[in-house]
Amino acid sequence: MEKRLMVIFAHPDDESFGPSGTLAHYVQTGARVQLITATKGEAGKNALGTDEPVGQIRERELQEAVKVLGLEKLHFLGYIDKTLKDLEPQRPIEKILHIVNDFKPQVLISYGPTGISMHSDHITVHKWASRVFRMSAHPQKLYYHTVPRELLLARHPDLTFDDGEITTIIDVRKYHDIKKSAVLCHQTQRYSIERIFDFAGGSRSIPEEETFVLADHKLKDYQLQGIENELFAGINVFNREGVG
Ligand SMILES: [Zn+2]
Repeated sequence: MEKRLMVIFAHPDDESFGPSGTLAHYVQTGARVQLITATKGEAGKNALGTDEPVGQIRERELQEAVKVLGLEKLHFLGYIDKTLKDLEPQRPIEKILHIVNDFKPQVLISYGPTGISMHSDHITVHKWASRVFRMSAHPQKLYYHTVPRELLLARHPDLTFDDGEITTIIDVRKYHDIKKSAVLCHQTQRYSIERIFDFAGGSRSIPEEETFVLADHKLKDYQLQGIENELFAGINVFNREGVG
């Protein structure tokens, strides 16, 4: 009887810098939303300059962001930042599959094949999430979060999908304050925040829309008709046995 959305990313802050407006939108409109994060961002910078292990701080930052966004649960897979591509994929895929089968989301969100930034952890999580989508009976639609080309840094023009490949646009104007608060939870990443977001001195305003590519679905007779504005379009969230 409810919409359930599962997001699968690699690092603390990917959710907030990424599709957090969309996550806030679904939480605020009554969906249940959970997040899987593969690592604690142990290899990241610590702009706070403190001695505490950065993974420990980033774990807390992500827990705060999850609260700000209103997500009902955060699952850490417990892997180490920048090592995911070296792992045998079977065990992490089993872990994700177990969490997905337990939550039974109708919709999964992860990264596309370039991971947006070509970070090897992102690309690895993309592969795991895509495999789990095919292995689990529950998710009906798989989305890759993407960023319109004009928003990408000029030096990375080829990292995202063509704008013409975007299938799905979510209006997130109402959730700017929530997104900003979620981003600001990640103070170890303050230099990135200051470089990117205009509210912190960077070059980009928070986008009015967040964009996705419908990478795969299992819905019978579902045809995209122009741009979707609803991740759950075509899913009967009320009646279908096992989903409703
Ligand atoms: Zn990341």
